[in-house]
Amino acid sequence: MEQLRLNNGQMIPQLGLGVFKVQDADDLKRSVADALKSGYRHFDTATIYHNEAWLGEALAESDVKREDLFITSKVWNSNTTYDETIAAFHESLKKLQTDYLDLYLIHWPSEGYNEKWRAMETLYNDGLIKSIGVSNFEQPHLEKLMTTAKIKPAVDQLETHPYFQQKELHAYLKSMDIAHEAWGPLGQGKSNVLEDPTLAKIAEAHNKSVAQVILRWHLQRDIIVIPKSVHAERIAQNIDVFDFTLTDEEMKLIAAIDKNQRGSGDPNDEE
Ligand code: NAD
Repeated sequence: MEQLRLNNGQMIPQLGLGVFKVQDADDLKRSVADALKSGYRHFDTATIYHNEAWLGEALAESDVKREDLFITSKVWNSNTTYDETIAAFHESLKKLQTDYLDLYLIHWPSEGYNEKWRAMETLYNDGLIKSIGVSNFEQPHLEKLMTTAKIKPAVDQLETHPYFQQKELHAYLKSMDIAHEAWGPLGQGKSNVLEDPTLAKIAEAHNKSVAQVILRWHLQRDIIVIPKSVHAERIAQNIDVFDFTLTDEEMKLIAAIDKNQRGSGDPNDEE
């Protein structure tokens, strides 16, 4: 598994399993077990997914050592103050059956995010979180955060896929040495990106699926990906993307299919 070095020196596996909308304990536990078998070590959840406890159980039942796992969770919008953020974090730790998180994110740039960040900095300085970051923050949100932040976010997790490539924000994050992580990397199964003819042609040339080509494209942009699936064969397929490389020409062809088409919530509606 390829790893990226974050701006604080911590390493992150560049591909992980997302568990958004997995609302059944058995499905979650089975998919985490399948993912671990396929080589996944990085798992992305959030308080609002209401499945941290199942993920915690699934990981506790595995024989993979804690230090070989990378666990991300996120503080939800309803926690708006310093104290609430600290309390929410400890609740997540308990559910995840661990004594530290690898990455903790502010889920959306909603009310009070500068204060929430101050709490995350305390948790980071206390050694309870290895890296802290944000999600759904655009440049103005990051600039506002930075007016009071003492620690720069290590990661910004954003909706990103071939029909919503986030080119400008990607360049800004690169210039700031903040890692870009893609949520909805496959278009969340609701965008028709998986049927795109350009991607289909490239997939055929490499004898890979369109999903694999999309994930490979993200990786070659230095983006961290956390595709979600509860199906064993897709879970295995989604991590089988380290044995081929897209050419510069193919990267350019994919750059050209951007529609700037957001699939879900707009961060600018949050404030
Ligand atoms: P995704 O782009 O990963 O799409 C998942 C869907 O794609 C699946 O439900 C399935 O329908 C399809 N799929 C998966 N693998 C496939 C394959 N190999 N072939 C064909 N179809 C396949 O969407 P997502 O789950 O929304 O995003 C991934 C993760 O990102 C989430 O699980 C969650 O952890 C995170 N996320 C974060 C935010 C945020 O606000 N920070 C928002 C949404 C999701």
